[in-house]
Amino acid sequence: MNYHQYYPIDVVNGPGTRATLFVSGCEHQCRGCYNQSTWDPRSGHVFDRTMEDRIIADLNDKRIVRRGLSLSGGDPLLPVNLSAILTLVKRVKAECAGKDIWLWTGYVLDELSDEQRAVLAYIDVLVDGKFEQSLADPSLVFRGSSNQIIRLL
Ligand code: SF4
Repeated sequence: MNYHQYYPIDVVNGPGTRATLFVSGCEHQCRGCYNQSTWDPRSGHVFDRTMEDRIIADLNDKRIVRRGLSLSGGDPLLPVNLSAILTLVKRVKAECAGKDIWLWTGYVLDELSDEQRAVLAYIDVLVDGKFEQSLADPSLVFRGSSNQIIRLL
């Protein structure tokens, strides 16, 4: 898996103070997408064990307490990303006590494959669905269009 951006401190993408990872790779091609540069899964930087360790360390940092981790993109549930995402979310749940995980995907919950669903066992909140420009609403919190649903898992 590759990633585009990592924000070790973020107060925009999800509730509270968080760490946020924007992964590379998305196949949804939503009209009006503001992250088109992330569509190519080969773009960005290689997500390796060093980045994994950095995220774990940031989530366990006692000086700046993060509520949890946000995973966005791109799409963390793009099939080529699943192996790395599953490894990461397992580590967060095993090594970062009390931290929540939010995940944004363009896929819809009911249509997820078994491999994609395996990730859901480790996340707390799923925001699902493509960005629909005709349903865009800037007053929405943590989602761009009204078809997207914030699901507590
Ligand atoms: S799912 Fe997100 S990143 Fe992918 S095309 Fe849609 S808005 Fe862009």
